[in-house]
Amino acid sequence: NAELVLELRLMAYGSEQVLFLARDVSKVHRLEEMRRDFVANVSHELKTPLTVVRGYVEMVQMTEHALDPYWQKVFNTMDTQVSRMDRLVEQLLILSRVEINIDEDDKQLIDMPKLIRALVEDSKWLNQDKKHHITANIDDHLAIEGIDNEIKSACLNLISNAISYTQANGNIHISWQMDGNKAKFSVKDDGPGIRPENVNRITERFFRVDKSRSRDTGGSGLGLAIVKHVLNHHHAELSINSKWGMGSEFIIYFDPKCIRTVP
Ligand code: ADP
Repeated sequence: NAELVLELRLMAYGSEQVLFLARDVSKVHRLEEMRRDFVANVSHELKTPLTVVRGYVEMVQMTEHALDPYWQKVFNTMDTQVSRMDRLVEQLLILSRVEINIDEDDKQLIDMPKLIRALVEDSKWLNQDKKHHITANIDDHLAIEGIDNEIKSACLNLISNAISYTQANGNIHISWQMDGNKAKFSVKDDGPGIRPENVNRITERFFRVDKSRSRDTGGSGLGLAIVKHVLNHHHAELSINSKWGMGSEFIIYFDPKCIRTVP
Protein backbone atom coordinates (compact mmCIF):
# COMPACT_ATOMS: atom_id res chain seq x y z
CA ASN A 1 0.00 0.00 0.00
CA ALA A 2 3.05 2.23 0.23
CA GLU A 3 2.77 5.47 -1.69
CA LEU A 4 5.32 5.99 -4.47
CA VAL A 5 6.82 9.47 -4.47
CA LEU A 6 8.95 10.47 -7.42
CA GLU A 7 11.13 13.55 -7.78
CA LEU A 8 11.14 14.54 -11.44
CA ARG A 9 13.66 16.84 -13.10
CA LEU A 10 13.91 18.06 -16.65
CA MET A 11 17.26 19.65 -17.47
CA ALA A 12 18.81 21.17 -20.57
CA TYR A 13 21.62 18.92 -21.74
CA GLY A 14 23.77 20.56 -24.43
CA SER A 15 21.90 22.83 -26.82
CA GLU A 16 19.53 20.30 -28.40
CA GLN A 17 18.96 17.60 -25.85
CA VAL A 18 17.14 17.43 -22.55
CA LEU A 19 17.81 15.12 -19.68
CA PHE A 20 14.89 13.63 -17.77
CA LEU A 21 15.63 12.35 -14.26
CA ALA A 22 13.23 10.44 -12.03
CA ARG A 23 14.27 9.59 -8.47
CA ASP A 24 12.31 7.46 -6.02
CA VAL A 25 12.10 9.53 -2.82
CA SER A 26 9.32 7.47 -1.21
CA LYS A 27 11.50 6.35 1.69
CA VAL A 28 12.73 9.89 2.51
CA HIS A 29 9.16 11.10 2.21
CA ARG A 30 7.85 8.38 4.57
CA LEU A 31 10.59 9.04 7.14
CA GLU A 32 9.83 12.77 7.04
CA GLU A 33 6.13 12.02 7.55
CA MET A 34 6.93 9.74 10.51
CA ARG A 35 9.11 12.43 12.10
CA ARG A 36 6.34 15.01 11.70
CA ASP A 37 3.69 12.69 13.16
CA PHE A 38 5.97 11.76 16.05
CA VAL A 39 6.63 15.41 16.97
CA ALA A 40 2.93 16.25 16.69
CA ASN A 41 1.89 13.26 18.85
CA VAL A 42 4.52 13.84 21.54
CA SER A 43 3.64 17.54 21.75
CA HIS A 44 -0.02 16.71 21.99
CA GLU A 45 0.57 14.14 24.75
CA LEU A 46 2.69 16.62 26.74
CA LYS A 47 -0.13 19.16 26.85
CA THR A 48 -2.24 17.34 29.49
CA PRO A 49 0.47 16.64 32.12
CA LEU A 50 1.72 20.20 31.68
CA THR A 51 -1.71 21.62 32.34
CA VAL A 52 -2.00 19.47 35.48
CA VAL A 53 1.44 20.57 36.81
CA ARG A 54 0.62 24.20 36.07
CA GLY A 55 -2.69 23.89 37.93
CA TYR A 56 -0.95 22.48 41.02
CA VAL A 57 1.77 25.16 40.95
CA GLU A 58 -0.88 27.88 40.77
CA MET A 59 -2.86 26.23 43.55
CA VAL A 60 0.17 26.04 45.89
CA GLN A 61 1.09 29.65 45.08
CA MET A 62 -2.27 30.65 46.48
CA THR A 63 -1.86 28.78 49.79
CA GLU A 64 0.02 29.80 52.94
CA HIS A 65 3.24 28.08 51.67
CA ALA A 66 3.53 30.96 49.24
CA LEU A 67 4.13 33.35 52.14
CA ASP A 68 7.51 31.80 52.94
CA PRO A 69 10.08 33.59 50.69
CA TYR A 70 12.01 30.33 50.06
CA TRP A 71 8.97 28.45 48.79
CA GLN A 72 7.78 31.55 46.94
CA LYS A 73 11.04 31.46 44.96
CA VAL A 74 10.73 27.71 44.34
CA PHE A 75 7.18 28.00 43.00
CA ASN A 76 7.92 31.10 40.94
CA THR A 77 10.77 29.22 39.24
CA MET A 78 8.50 26.23 38.62
CA ASP A 79 5.85 28.55 37.20
CA THR A 80 8.35 30.20 34.81
CA GLN A 81 9.72 26.86 33.61
CA VAL A 82 6.28 25.31 33.13
CA SER A 83 5.21 28.37 31.10
CA ARG A 84 8.33 28.05 28.96
CA MET A 85 7.65 24.39 28.29
CA ASP A 86 4.02 25.18 27.52
CA ARG A 87 5.08 27.75 24.90
CA LEU A 88 7.60 25.34 23.41
CA VAL A 89 5.00 22.56 23.10
CA GLU A 90 2.53 25.02 21.56
CA GLN A 91 5.13 26.17 19.00
CA LEU A 92 6.02 22.53 18.19
CA LEU A 93 2.34 21.79 17.54
CA ILE A 94 2.00 24.85 15.29
CA LEU A 95 5.19 23.88 13.43
CA SER A 96 3.99 20.32 12.79
CA ARG A 97 0.67 21.73 11.55
CA VAL A 98 2.27 24.17 9.11
CA GLU A 99 4.78 21.59 7.84
CA ILE A 100 2.10 19.61 6.04
CA ASN A 101 0.83 20.63 2.64
CA ILE A 102 -2.39 22.59 2.56
CA ASP A 103 -5.41 22.43 0.36
CA GLU A 104 -5.64 25.56 -1.82
CA ASP A 105 -9.43 25.45 -1.25
CA ASP A 106 -8.90 26.22 2.46
CA LYS A 107 -7.69 29.70 1.57
CA GLN A 108 -10.02 32.63 2.11
CA LEU A 109 -9.97 36.40 1.96
CA ILE A 110 -7.98 37.85 4.86
CA ASP A 111 -8.72 41.39 5.95
CA MET A 112 -5.06 42.21 6.64
CA PRO A 113 -5.60 45.80 7.91
CA LYS A 114 -7.97 44.43 10.57
CA LEU A 115 -5.69 41.50 11.45
CA ILE A 116 -2.56 43.70 11.70
CA ARG A 117 -4.29 46.44 13.73
CA ALA A 118 -5.49 43.82 16.25
CA LEU A 119 -1.95 42.41 16.53
CA VAL A 120 -0.47 45.90 17.01
CA GLU A 121 -3.01 46.63 19.76
CA ASP A 122 -2.33 43.28 21.49
CA SER A 123 1.44 43.74 21.22
CA LYS A 124 1.24 46.96 23.22
CA TRP A 125 0.45 44.75 26.25
CA LEU A 126 3.56 42.59 25.75
CA ASN A 127 6.65 43.64 27.72
CA GLN A 128 4.96 46.86 28.80
CA ASP A 129 7.82 47.60 31.19
CA LYS A 130 10.17 48.07 28.20
CA LYS A 131 8.12 51.08 27.04
CA HIS A 132 8.67 50.57 23.31
CA HIS A 133 7.43 53.16 20.82
CA ILE A 134 5.28 51.11 18.46
CA THR A 135 4.00 52.80 15.29
CA ALA A 136 2.12 51.44 12.29
CA ASN A 137 1.37 52.49 8.73
CA ILE A 138 -1.37 50.35 7.21
CA ASP A 139 -3.02 50.42 3.78
CA ASP A 140 -6.72 49.99 4.61
CA HIS A 141 -7.64 48.45 1.25
CA LEU A 142 -4.96 45.80 0.92
CA ALA A 143 -6.10 42.20 1.57
CA ILE A 144 -4.72 38.80 0.62
CA GLU A 145 -6.05 35.31 0.09
CA GLY A 146 -4.64 32.77 2.51
CA ILE A 147 -5.08 30.77 5.68
CA ASP A 148 -6.08 33.13 8.44
CA ASN A 149 -4.49 31.30 11.42
CA GLU A 150 -1.23 30.76 9.62
CA ILE A 151 -0.85 34.37 8.47
CA LYS A 152 -1.75 35.61 11.94
CA SER A 153 0.87 33.33 13.49
CA ALA A 154 3.58 34.50 11.01
CA CYS A 155 2.87 38.23 11.55
CA LEU A 156 2.66 37.76 15.32
CA ASN A 157 6.01 35.95 15.42
CA LEU A 158 7.76 38.86 13.67
CA ILE A 159 6.14 41.45 15.93
CA SER A 160 6.81 39.55 19.15
CA ASN A 161 10.46 38.99 18.15
CA ALA A 162 10.90 42.74 17.62
CA ILE A 163 9.41 43.30 21.08
CA SER A 164 11.55 40.58 22.71
CA TYR A 165 14.87 41.59 21.21
CA THR A 166 14.57 45.40 21.17
CA GLN A 167 15.91 47.21 24.24
CA ALA A 168 13.77 49.39 26.50
CA ASN A 169 12.51 52.63 24.88
CA GLY A 170 13.35 51.20 21.46
CA ASN A 171 11.33 51.93 18.30
CA ILE A 172 9.29 49.38 16.38
CA HIS A 173 7.58 50.27 13.12
CA ILE A 174 5.05 47.98 11.44
CA SER A 175 3.91 48.59 7.89
CA TRP A 176 1.51 47.01 5.37
CA GLN A 177 1.75 48.57 1.92
CA MET A 178 2.15 47.77 -1.77
CA ASP A 179 5.76 47.72 -2.95
CA GLY A 180 5.91 47.51 -6.77
CA ASN A 181 3.54 44.68 -7.66
CA LYS A 182 3.94 42.90 -4.31
CA ALA A 183 2.24 43.39 -0.96
CA LYS A 184 4.78 44.09 1.76
CA PHE A 185 4.42 43.42 5.50
CA SER A 186 7.37 44.83 7.41
CA VAL A 187 8.45 44.91 11.04
CA LYS A 188 11.38 47.22 11.64
CA ASP A 189 13.17 47.71 14.94
CA ASP A 190 16.22 49.57 16.22
CA GLY A 191 17.28 46.65 18.41
CA PRO A 192 20.65 44.83 18.45
CA GLY A 193 20.55 43.59 14.84
CA ILE A 194 21.91 40.23 13.67
CA ARG A 195 25.45 39.38 12.58
CA PRO A 196 25.70 38.63 8.81
CA GLU A 197 26.89 35.05 9.44
CA ASN A 198 23.70 34.33 11.42
CA VAL A 199 21.14 35.96 9.14
CA ASN A 200 20.78 32.88 6.92
CA ARG A 201 20.58 30.52 9.88
CA ILE A 202 17.93 32.12 12.07
CA THR A 203 15.04 30.52 10.18
CA GLU A 204 16.37 27.03 11.01
CA ARG A 205 14.49 25.05 13.63
CA PHE A 206 15.86 25.69 17.15
CA PHE A 207 18.53 28.13 15.94
CA ARG A 208 19.00 31.01 18.37
CA VAL A 209 21.84 33.50 18.08
CA ASP A 210 22.46 33.96 21.77
CA LYS A 211 21.09 30.89 23.51
CA SER A 212 21.23 32.22 27.06
CA ARG A 213 19.70 35.59 26.19
CA SER A 214 17.05 33.96 24.01
CA ARG A 215 16.20 31.70 26.93
CA ASP A 216 15.66 34.81 29.07
CA THR A 217 13.25 36.15 26.47
CA GLY A 218 11.32 32.85 26.63
CA GLY A 219 12.18 32.01 23.01
CA SER A 220 12.01 28.50 21.58
CA GLY A 221 13.96 29.00 18.35
CA LEU A 222 10.91 27.82 16.37
CA GLY A 223 9.20 31.13 15.55
CA LEU A 224 10.98 31.92 12.29
CA ALA A 225 10.86 28.25 11.17
CA ILE A 226 7.07 28.53 11.50
CA VAL A 227 7.10 31.80 9.52
CA LYS A 228 9.10 30.15 6.73
CA HIS A 229 6.69 27.22 6.40
CA VAL A 230 3.65 29.50 6.45
CA LEU A 231 5.14 31.58 3.64
CA ASN A 232 5.75 28.44 1.54
CA HIS A 233 1.97 27.94 1.60
CA HIS A 234 1.27 31.52 0.49
CA HIS A 235 3.39 32.42 -2.55
CA ALA A 236 5.34 34.65 -0.18
CA GLU A 237 8.97 35.23 0.76
CA LEU A 238 10.82 36.39 3.86
CA SER A 239 13.53 38.98 3.50
CA ILE A 240 15.76 40.04 6.41
CA ASN A 241 17.68 43.32 6.41
CA SER A 242 19.84 43.61 9.45
CA LYS A 243 23.05 45.24 10.49
CA TRP A 244 24.79 44.23 13.68
CA GLY A 245 24.14 46.97 16.22
CA MET A 246 21.82 48.87 13.87
CA GLY A 247 18.45 47.11 14.15
CA SER A 248 16.59 44.70 11.89
CA GLU A 249 13.80 44.70 9.37
CA PHE A 250 11.85 41.50 8.70
CA ILE A 251 9.77 41.71 5.52
CA ILE A 252 7.18 39.38 4.04
CA TYR A 253 6.57 39.91 0.30
CA PHE A 254 3.29 38.48 -1.02
CA ASP A 255 3.11 37.59 -4.69
CA PRO A 256 0.57 39.49 -6.87
CA LYS A 257 -1.45 36.26 -7.33
CA CYS A 258 -2.63 36.30 -3.68
CA ILE A 259 -3.30 40.07 -3.44
CA ARG A 260 -6.96 41.11 -3.04
CA THR A 261 -8.92 44.21 -2.01
CA VAL A 262 -10.76 44.63 1.30
CA PRO A 263 -14.50 44.49 0.41
P1 ADP B 1 13.05 32.61 19.29
O1 ADP B 1 11.94 31.84 19.87
O2 ADP B 1 14.40 32.31 19.88
O3 ADP B 1 12.76 34.07 19.20
P2 ADP B 1 12.93 32.67 16.38
O4 ADP B 1 12.98 31.55 15.40
O5 ADP B 1 11.72 33.54 16.37
O6 ADP B 1 13.14 32.01 17.81
O7 ADP B 1 14.22 33.58 16.17
C1 ADP B 1 15.51 32.96 16.05
C2 ADP B 1 16.60 33.88 16.54
O8 ADP B 1 16.70 35.02 15.65
C3 ADP B 1 16.32 34.50 17.90
O9 ADP B 1 16.73 33.63 18.95
C4 ADP B 1 17.16 35.76 17.86
O10 ADP B 1 18.50 35.46 18.18
C5 ADP B 1 17.10 36.16 16.37
N1 ADP B 1 16.11 37.24 16.13
C6 ADP B 1 14.85 37.10 15.70
N2 ADP B 1 14.24 38.29 15.57
C7 ADP B 1 15.15 39.24 15.93
C8 ADP B 1 15.14 40.67 16.02
N3 ADP B 1 14.05 41.40 15.67
N4 ADP B 1 16.28 41.29 16.42
C9 ADP B 1 17.38 40.58 16.75
N5 ADP B 1 17.46 39.22 16.69
C10 ADP B 1 16.37 38.55 16.29
